Amino acid sequence: MKPILLALLACLTLEAQAPRLDERTVRAHLAFLADDVLEGRGTGQRGGELAVRYLETQLQALGLAPANGASYRQKVALAGLRLEPAASSLRFEGPQGVLTPALGDELALGAAAPEVLLPVDAPLVFVGHGIADGHRDDYKGLDVRGRILVMLVGDRKNGPPLPLCCEAENYEGRWTYKFEEARRRGAAGALLIHTDASAGYGWAVVRNSWSQERFQRAGSGQPGAVQGWLTEAAARRLFALAGQELPALIAGADALTFQPVPLALRARGTVRSTVRSLEQWNVAGLLRGRDPQRARELVIFSAHWDHFGKGADGAIYAGAVDNATGCAGVLAIAKALALKPPARSVLFFFPCAEEQGLLGSAAYVEAPLRPLARTRLVINLESLNVVGPTRDIGLLGSSEPALLKLCVKAAAASGLVLTPPKADPAGLCFRSDHFPFAKAGVPALSPGFSLDGGWDYLGDKATAQAKAAAFMTRYHRPTDRYNPAWNLEGMLQQLRFALELGRLAATAP
Ligand SMILES: [Zn+2]
Repeated sequence: MKPILLALLACLTLEAQAPRLDERTVRAHLAFLADDVLEGRGTGQRGGELAVRYLETQLQALGLAPANGASYRQKVALAGLRLEPAASSLRFEGPQGVLTPALGDELALGAAAPEVLLPVDAPLVFVGHGIADGHRDDYKGLDVRGRILVMLVGDRKNGPPLPLCCEAENYEGRWTYKFEEARRRGAAGALLIHTDASAGYGWAVVRNSWSQERFQRAGSGQPGAVQGWLTEAAARRLFALAGQELPALIAGADALTFQPVPLALRARGTVRSTVRSLEQWNVAGLLRGRDPQRARELVIFSAHWDHFGKGADGAIYAGAVDNATGCAGVLAIAKALALKPPARSVLFFFPCAEEQGLLGSAAYVEAPLRPLARTRLVINLESLNVVGPTRDIGLLGSSEPALLKLCVKAAAASGLVLTPPKADPAGLCFRSDHFPFAKAGVPALSPGFSLDGGWDYLGDKATAQAKAAAFMTRYHRPTDRYNPAWNLEGMLQQLRFALELGRLAATAP
């Protein structure tokens, strides 16, 4: 064949492949990011540094522009606190005796600000759901300054929902809100009562994350205050010590007429922590839009790069599903889109410290690299499907009608149907990086995000569903590891949908 024909053929082949997502790319990034060499991509750990370096190198290799001046990085200042369990304890003293819950097994404990030594000596008050949002007020004017609030997690019934896809859910049910409200009211601290149902995960998840180094944004803490969780069993004994019954208190807490219940108990003890200041990095690369006018506007693809890193016992929390899958997906989408840029610009964004409370994405929303007002859509990829192909795809996040229309189109183009909105008892709507954007009014979704599957799988549904549900036993544990035998067809479907949705949003008039 003549060289010119060969060159033409090569061009045509390249063009035909231009927008495609290929499994090899996804699998290669996934296997690398979940590898032990990255030591679980921990916040403030060497493995996290390696992940950041890898991501910025990939963006550079794809020909994307640095999104922060000459840099692919955006600095996020954090404080790290690690509890010293041997030097920390908390006991509850009442007229009928003393209760000292076992640290780790029954009590998760920490300081609410980066303080090395926090002495605790304060009375306790049960404030039900601890919500005050204009719709319900669990405080009823009680001045809780100087007291430690004991609260339930979750409130599925009586709150005003945000405009999100998930039904019957509100932010005031989230544990992060509980601590924020305690801070706003100047309480001496907050202790949350854990149940599997209200938290959305077992005690092991709480114990794991609170026994590691925990992080907060620099300057965001509440000096002098204690924070923690109690198991349901420990809470029951605590209330019994105060002459109260937990089931009765829980039953009364849903009513809008709920009144706070002062407990005849004082919490006394010491919280000792190792404290450090550190810098972490969001990573972001920009694909400039083809249309000079619309290139000022952008669509964001995001996926958090961090997981829990190396634990105190040396175990590696590889975070293969959570969230090497999402990062691999965003890199594969970047590769596909870079070959054929849409009219608007596209930002490929890897926030840090998601597992620490969405800290990286919250920092971006506070100081965006491109104006939020010109950000049309955020598509966040989180814990994708490694079980098998499905008939449907679920949405979590914003529910504007115009956005849902685009989602219907994208689903049709990728051979999927949209799962109708369903209840979200685990509060996933508030548990990934789309949320800080949605809260700031930017349409934002985590399509396909689910911890326990629940999709309409093709083929042997029961087996696929059982495999998906089994992830709950690996979630946030060292066993969330990559398996080369994973069937990535379902993940590729999710990525095709995300790519199509992003392309529609980046080209629509
Ligand atoms: Zn995650």
